[in-house]
Amino acid sequence: MGRVGLTPISEVKQPVAVDIRYIVPIYSELLRRGIVDKPIAMEEESRVALSGFDLLEALNLLGVDMAPTIALDRSEFEVISTCGRPISLDDIVEAGLGGSKLGYGCFQVKLHLRELPCINVDLDSLGFSNDYKRRGNLRVYGDTLELLYEGWPTPLVKLRSFSSDGRIVLAKLEGFNPFSNSIKDRVGWAMIMEALGRGGLREVIYEATSSNTGIALASIGAILGLRSRFFIPRNIQRVSDVYLKILGAEVERMPVNLTVEAISEVESRARMDGATHLNQFENDANFKVHLKYTARELDLQLREFGVKPDYIVGGLGTSGHMSAISLYFKSRYGRDVKIVGVQPTRDDVIPGIRRIETGMRWVHWVEFDRIIDVKCSEAIEGCIEVARREGLLIGLSSGAVFHAFKEIAGEDGVYVLIFPDTGYKYGEQFEGYLK
Ligand code: PLP
Repeated sequence: MGRVGLTPISEVKQPVAVDIRYIVPIYSELLRRGIVDKPIAMEEESRVALSGFDLLEALNLLGVDMAPTIALDRSEFEVISTCGRPISLDDIVEAGLGGSKLGYGCFQVKLHLRELPCINVDLDSLGFSNDYKRRGNLRVYGDTLELLYEGWPTPLVKLRSFSSDGRIVLAKLEGFNPFSNSIKDRVGWAMIMEALGRGGLREVIYEATSSNTGIALASIGAILGLRSRFFIPRNIQRVSDVYLKILGAEVERMPVNLTVEAISEVESRARMDGATHLNQFENDANFKVHLKYTARELDLQLREFGVKPDYIVGGLGTSGHMSAISLYFKSRYGRDVKIVGVQPTRDDVIPGIRRIETGMRWVHWVEFDRIIDVKCSEAIEGCIEVARREGLLIGLSSGAVFHAFKEIAGEDGVYVLIFPDTGYKYGEQFEGYLK
């Protein structure tokens, strides 16, 4: 009588609303003993639970794949109402299959078995850790620097609300990098490692930055015991100074509107003070890290997903990441892959990106199919649309990328958008816009 076995826990239906206070002791006991000693009785046909309602909830909270069950047919038990109103098996089945849940203790199921068979199943054989093991992300990082380069790839995610039957829109979320929460972690790491490798790294780093490269260098500098000083244009959000100072860096505001306008001053100050000026704008380690990692991992992710990109859209600051992506994808897939660069309109400021004519190194080595001008207000509106449709709080240059995507988007095709950072540094700009 009754068939004992393991049933996928998602198939065992709960007909009863169980208060967390009844679940806690069972959850704790299961963890303490590491075994389950009684099966959950369920009606054979519907797989609705007939007993062990709190055990079922506790097993769910333990994340197991399988539940130990005993399947009973209707002749093997009877339902006894205990709360005044008659409750039938049909009521229980209906509650289990999606109707409103019955009260705890409203009924009892009397088994014709004398008692439930004893079992002895350990949590591991119920798949206690399988969900994390399947995802392969149980690794513990040996140090915080490993968290950066061993954490790659950054996620590539489908933006479902902007995709359709013929159109796939994918966003690469560089905000998942751990230090500056931006694509610039890659550049900061590469420039420091390259300088270290050739013995060209002094104890102090100087850099002109609009925030992200500074935060990345300050973080990696902190790990490696280096000091740093950053030179920031006057119009960049104030919160960047706070983050840099918390990381132990010194900050100097410069009377310029564009980061590149501070380079020669930073270069001569570094020479005077015996500091290393890594100079992201001219340092080929910037371009190289995107060839070796950013572009290649994007390709591998797209291949894994089974698509070839038609358009890749991204912002231009130093031009490091989009130039590397252009070189990689045009070389591998030919000219069918369209590369779209995004810059601010004349006289507009979008932190992180700037106009090509202000001087960029790598952009001239590769092919761009289109360069799209975006206003700061359009970038913010892009951030708002992505936030409200996809729940992602992206940064202003990402909002500009999204706006450019909307300008070129057709009904069909695979569109890849590179989102360099998150929105959390841009509270001041968002606040100004909302006012
Ligand atoms: N977006 C943000 C937020 C940035 O910080 C940067 C670079 O500073 C970029 C875009 C542009 O990236 P790249 O320098 O690779 O052109």
